Parts: sequence; C-alpha cells; structure tokens
Amino acid sequence: MLSAADREIRLGIWKLHILHHAAAREVWGTWLLEELAEHGHTLSPGTLYPALARMERNGWLRRTGSAPHARARQTFRITPAGKRLLEELRREVTELYEEVVLERVSRKGGR
Ligand SMILES: [Zn+2]
Repeated sequence: MLSAADREIRLGIWKLHILHHAAAREVWGTWLLEELAEHGHTLSPGTLYPALARMERNGWLRRTGSAPHARARQTFRITPAGKRLLEELRREVTELYEEVVLERVSRKGGR
C-alpha cells in the first residue's frame, strides 16, 4: 500500500528517477526495484509496473524487451519525448533544490 506521502509526492519523484535511468541504459522492473531500494524506497511490483505502463502510455518510455512470457523481463528505454521531459524536470529540480534544500532566495525576490 502506498502511504499518502508516497501517493501525493514520492510517486512523481520515483518516475523522475526511472526516466533518469532509462535515459542512460535499458531498464526493467526488478532492476528498478533494486535500484530504488538502494535509495531507501521499497516499492512493490504492484506500484512499479502500473507506473511503468502509464509512463509508456504517456509516450515517455518505450518497450525494448522481447521476452513476452516474463513480465519482469520487459525492458524499457526513454523516448525523445521522455528526454525532453527529463531535461525540463532537471531544471525544475535544480531550482527546487536550491530553494528548498540550500534555502537560497529565489530570483523572483521572495520566499
Ligand atoms: Zn538511481
């Protein structure tokens, strides 16, 4: 079960994390579960696989794997649309980091 914080906030962060890795290499479910677990995020397959399917439907990931019998072996890469989104999100996360973590006053003058 997802907690309220998982559903409201972390789900988006996990998807950004997935985009980042799918830009660098081919990814699949069990690899992503282990990778996210290393960062302290223990997702269930019931959370990850629907998220991957939604990211594919939105055109950010494409299936590259060919083993239809093993769901866990479906592999994914980022699409050009996913790359554009990742670039935008990188800028936004950098700005968010500077404001929320480093507590720098934003250029627009207020906090
Ligand atoms: Zn990672």
